[in-house]
Amino acid sequence: MPDQRYRDLLALFEKHKGVTDEITFFSSFTHPDLPIEEIKRRCDILVQRIAQAKALGYRSGINVLSTMGHHEENLPNSLSGNYTPVTDIGGGVCRGSFCPNDPNLQQYVRQLYQCVAAANPDYIWVDDDVRLMGHMPLGLTCFCDYCLAIFEKESGTNYTRASLRAALTAGGPRESTALRKAWLVHNRATITRLLTLIEQTVHAAKPGMPLGFMTGDRFFEGYDFDHWAEALAGTNQSPVYSCERQDAAATMQEALAGTNQSPVYWRPGGGFYEDSTPSGMVGKSHDIGRQVSLLPPSVRLIQSEIENFPYQRLKKAAHMTAVEAASHMGAGCSGAAFNVLSGNDEPLDEFEPLVARLRQTRAFYDLMARHLGRAQPIGLYTAWNKDQAAAGDFINHPGWAMGHLGQGSQILEAGLPAAYQAQGSAVTLLFPQSVAAMSPEEIRKALAGGVYTDVETLNLLNQLGYQELTGMTAEQPHPVDCIEEFTAHPLNGPFARRQRDCRQSFYRVSGYVGYVLKKSDPKVETLARLVDYSGKELSSCSMATYENKLGGRICVSGYYPWDHLHSLSKSAQMKSVMRWLARDRLPAYVASYHKVNLWVREPKSGRIAIALLNASFDAADGLDLAVATSAGEARVFDMQAKEQVIRASNTDGPYRRFVLPAVEPWTMRLVVVGACEASF
Ligand SMILES: [Zn+2]
Repeated sequence: MPDQRYRDLLALFEKHKGVTDEITFFSSFTHPDLPIEEIKRRCDILVQRIAQAKALGYRSGINVLSTMGHHEENLPNSLSGNYTPVTDIGGGVCRGSFCPNDPNLQQYVRQLYQCVAAANPDYIWVDDDVRLMGHMPLGLTCFCDYCLAIFEKESGTNYTRASLRAALTAGGPRESTALRKAWLVHNRATITRLLTLIEQTVHAAKPGMPLGFMTGDRFFEGYDFDHWAEALAGTNQSPVYSCERQDAAATMQEALAGTNQSPVYWRPGGGFYEDSTPSGMVGKSHDIGRQVSLLPPSVRLIQSEIENFPYQRLKKAAHMTAVEAASHMGAGCSGAAFNVLSGNDEPLDEFEPLVARLRQTRAFYDLMARHLGRAQPIGLYTAWNKDQAAAGDFINHPGWAMGHLGQGSQILEAGLPAAYQAQGSAVTLLFPQSVAAMSPEEIRKALAGGVYTDVETLNLLNQLGYQELTGMTAEQPHPVDCIEEFTAHPLNGPFARRQRDCRQSFYRVSGYVGYVLKKSDPKVETLARLVDYSGKELSSCSMATYENKLGGRICVSGYYPWDHLHSLSKSAQMKSVMRWLARDRLPAYVASYHKVNLWVREPKSGRIAIALLNASFDAADGLDLAVATSAGEARVFDMQAKEQVIRASNTDGPYRRFVLPAVEPWTMRLVVVGACEASF
């Protein structure tokens, strides 16, 4: 970019001073690797530009867009030569991405990071081309000859691509699963080796330099974030870099004091590039929540990537861009990296309203970072683990094993809190894919707590020998014409005889509909039955609860358990059920009838901090927030960081209820209750 364009950019940031603490430079705007001469030429320019940014008080670093490369674009101007392209199991290749296990590519990576470190950045980011799936036009990689040779050493078996495919897909379920898990171990090691090479290269030149990694939901790579963070931290002998301007960085230095490790940053991402389907933003927050849940506490600087690629301003509103950063902070981030500006040499006028909006929201982000900290969200946990990709045939059905992860989101948007790890969660949402990836100990532990699930999962649990803990079985379902009708059970409150008709003839959701549940223990209690359009009973029990001998509580729903949950009666029933399953250990939830996502943390004993999002195009009037606290006041911050103090309206068991001032459509609030800091 010409000097003048960079001066214009700095002028825009200076005009809205405070919009950002950091300016980070992309090494490229196309995704394959660049020839090393071109990297050198760019880094020579970056030396100056980084110095200019730092002179204005910004921290400044480089984001290496292409380490192994990604996609096939700009190939005539990209790295070529004796490098092995990433290869799929059929032998297909992506010419824009090279195998990280190829020694020639490793030599290139060494030179690349030497050049980048020499440009004297404050930090270096590794972008998310470092992955093993989605290098277009391919799906899963890398099955090149180097990778097969490494796997031969790891497994003791000499596979060809064809014989590996056969073994991964056509062995008995147990053998194939074991081999798929072994392949995930192999993939984890491939990424670790590459990150270790980067760490050693950078820290040999610049001891202690912070290294960051951008990720997504990296199931096929084995989701080894804790170990990858360790690899990037290295074991440096020198003091860590001084990061005076950043609170998060300073806290991180404290966390690392006494260790030999360098700071590690993380940039979790996901796909939400434009706002025509706003719920995609919440889905990305859940993806990000999972990513953050695996990071060790020493990783303090966690910036969600807010990506508006390809940077056409009207594709995502300034408002939604600002809300998105706050939503991902709710799910676990301590900051945001805005990848939202044009890469073209053209005036920045159209981006100024966006920059201005982010500046206006800055104080709110700071409040969120301070109050939410690195505490983990507590609430309803959609069960998954690092071996999730091995739970199914990832060669022929690559999406199946992770397909359940979006299904709990309709329950969450009823105003129930999301969690991303088993530890500390209040209720487990259990799916067949979850069970397929869990060990017997993990399954038993889940069933000793609170579990909400569907009949497919119930059947699987019973097949695996857990019927004594589930308390019930299921008969063949009725494929059409079932209507759910609530019983006069206390958990249904005032909604006995209310009906929910999900129109089976329209919404044909296989496996989830029209079941008859049979009690194998008389203590099972019925929450709903099914009737047809004439009122005739088709199932005397379609939704039931059971408390087992471990003290675990389970609720099985045999009629649209994961969707069509948005009526008043169903929404209220689900909240009662979740409170019962959790034995009132939900830290907070929305007791009123609103479409709200919330993330709840306990940053320290006695304090609860809640990020909540009105996920509706109607304002949320009379939003009644139930918080497990004895405190009589809640502090509510809007997105302009304006504070209002709300007194509890009443008490409901362990919960105090706070009625919030109206929350505008697709807008967030931060609510802080109890044991407040003096700095408030
Ligand atoms: Zn390879």
